[in-house]
Amino acid sequence: MTVYARRGIPTIVNAAGTLTRLSGGIMRPDVAAAMAEASAWCVDMVELQAHASDAIADATGAEAGYVASGAAAGLLIGTAACMTGLDAAAMARLPDTKGLRNEVIVARGQRNGYDHAVRAAGARLVEVGLPDRASGAGVRDTEPWEIAAAITDATAAVLYVATSNSRPPLRDVAAVAHAAGVPVIVDAAAELPPQANLRRFIAEGADLVVYSGGKAIGGPQASGILCGRRDLIMAAALQHLDMDVLSDFWEPPARLIDRSALTGLPRQGIGRTCKAGKEEIIGLLTALDLFIAEGDATRHARWLSDAQVMRDGLTGRHAFAMVLTGGENVEAVPKVVLRFASADHARALVAALLRHAPAIHVDAGEHEAGVIVLNPICLRPGDATVVVDAIVAALGHTA
Ligand SMILES: *Cc1c(COP(=O)(O)O)cnc(C)c1O
Repeated sequence: MTVYARRGIPTIVNAAGTLTRLSGGIMRPDVAAAMAEASAWCVDMVELQAHASDAIADATGAEAGYVASGAAAGLLIGTAACMTGLDAAAMARLPDTKGLRNEVIVARGQRNGYDHAVRAAGARLVEVGLPDRASGAGVRDTEPWEIAAAITDATAAVLYVATSNSRPPLRDVAAVAHAAGVPVIVDAAAELPPQANLRRFIAEGADLVVYSGGKAIGGPQASGILCGRRDLIMAAALQHLDMDVLSDFWEPPARLIDRSALTGLPRQGIGRTCKAGKEEIIGLLTALDLFIAEGDATRHARWLSDAQVMRDGLTGRHAFAMVLTGGENVEAVPKVVLRFASADHARALVAALLRHAPAIHVDAGEHEAGVIVLNPICLRPGDATVVVDAIVAALGHTA
């Protein structure tokens, strides 16, 4: 009996992907074991974070790194760092940002629900440009000159949400921001794989980058990476670490916290609300090592075999057209795409799969176009067959 069954909580089959709503993915046994081992000892958290900083710096090419409770947590403490710098009095006032640089510029087409974390730090988002390209009313999106024109003495940072479709290119955004002395924060929470993206955004000029620990990296669901400029990581750390310390006895590693740069010792900061424990930090670092060691090709092959089981099991069904996408590209996530003649057919299947025991969750984001996507990355061994059988059975009733 599983820990869930003992408590009467139904488990699900997750063919939708690493969604937080669906509890993320499946951690590897090595990661879970490392977390259990970590839990058996006490450490000084600032030493652990300094080690995490070195490991994340190695993996990303950034000067420094840090672990918080998610990518959104990284956005919150990263934004706080850009507003306060190393000013302990300013840290104490957050989210009250009166008198601070407190505006964060963002391309209007890159707004999304997660930027609430930026506002939670006390920043005000300043939207620029028009996503004409996305609205279908034109061919352009926000342009670098529009970001440059919006920068004032109140600008704390530019927020850049990285997707394969983001405009303008990050290099161009970094160029106009840096010309005005403004840092760029990149939300790359879900931009892995490809593995090369661990280094890409820093290489393209980002001052801070966030990644989810609980998505493709395969770390604990409540973990995330913040990496970037050493001074900003230090300012973020000071607003996240437990600062209930006696000044005389506090000797943090200087590569994470350089005490000589501080005029005062901050108190508990705005990041305290996104605490990460030693278990999450060790779990994330273990998962990051495994993610890098596995490489895109092996990871892709692992996912592809489940995608092929679903594709092969559904071949010959006439209720939908089917393609396996991303099968040839090791930098992509292979997925099985089912295209029905109508939205109603797609909707009926989604509903039937949710009524299945165990409930099966699929990516229904495009159901209005009659499209359902099966994502293999959170499937347990044997789940792919469960998905196939459930779809075959459901179509018996709905097709
Ligand atoms: C998932 C996601 C986040 C949030 O990441 P967490 O690690 O769950 O906090 C932020 N931004 C984007 C674009 C995401 O996809």
